[in-house]
Amino acid sequence: MHRVYGHERLLDRISSSLAAGRFPQATLFTGPTGVGKQRIAIWVAQGILCENGPAAPCGTCHSCGQIERLSHPDLHWFIPIPRPKAGEPDKQVEEAAGLLAEAVAERRANPVYGHPDGLASHAIASVRLLHRIVSLRPFQGPRRAVILANAERLVVQEASPEAANALLKVLEEPPPGTYLLLTSAEPQGLLPTIRSRLVPLRVGGVGDDAVRRFLSSELEPPLMGTALEQRVVMAEGSIGRAVAAAPSGSGAVQAAERLLAAVQGGAQRWAQAALAQAPWSARGEFTAVLDALGHRLREALVKRAGNDPAGAQRVAIAVRRVEEIRAVAQGNVNPQLALAVLARHLERLAA
Ligand SMILES: [Zn+2]
Repeated sequence: MHRVYGHERLLDRISSSLAAGRFPQATLFTGPTGVGKQRIAIWVAQGILCENGPAAPCGTCHSCGQIERLSHPDLHWFIPIPRPKAGEPDKQVEEAAGLLAEAVAERRANPVYGHPDGLASHAIASVRLLHRIVSLRPFQGPRRAVILANAERLVVQEASPEAANALLKVLEEPPPGTYLLLTSAEPQGLLPTIRSRLVPLRVGGVGDDAVRRFLSSELEPPLMGTALEQRVVMAEGSIGRAVAAAPSGSGAVQAAERLLAAVQGGAQRWAQAALAQAPWSARGEFTAVLDALGHRLREALVKRAGNDPAGAQRVAIAVRRVEEIRAVAQGNVNPQLALAVLARHLERLAA
């Protein structure tokens, strides 16, 4: 994990409350998208689990190291995931555990992550898994930390009264040593019964200097000069926004451009382009490629609408195909195969 940039005063306040043993067991970090709510929650988890704590993380003990590598057995990070497909509830829970491990592995590989996919959620299986985890003893020490990110995506709210009640019970009276850290940029999307059980902690924006330090040291390649200063202005205190403001150079846009160019080059070229897509590991990345592709086609549609109605209609069909593939991409579909099917449609439309 990269370190926390900015938020010094908030971290100071949290440190004192950790050291005094007064940090609440169920908290809700709120604040704008991309300001670092989850990163702060991980910092708090590190402080809770630190061998010299609870206090501000010492950064040198075994446990602090495990948190930095996201491999601590008592750190549980719930990230919105695609809805599990299995039929039986027990199988669904296992599937959710696998999907979560995959999602955390992705963040370990790429700590500068984007927003989760629009259809990902905390389905009932995730809530059951959470319940199962907190009903066991922590593995390594007396405490554990459970982070639940984008909490407004808790599906349990409407879908299952018994799972919702189980969750409410855990939030109301967390088991000894269990700390629940929820984050949300849209806390009004949480049920009042859930929200009322959480102690709110407001995470504000960071200063330009923190954004600048992040962009010049954590990005690959690092930003410099005018590009750096432009991005600092666009960030408006949100490092996440600064990172997301890089679409023209991003991997997804490049991959979309490559695919479109390959479609012009015939079957052999687009088959190669489809195979170049990572098969399973980076599902979020795959949907980002489809989003970039859709965006690019919509631009073409606008350009053609006035002077080439037949061409515009073909592009409109292409946009629809991209949207269809994007919808099935949420499931257990192989991204390489999906891209090959899409490229074939696009080739026919281009002919
Ligand atoms: Zn430590």
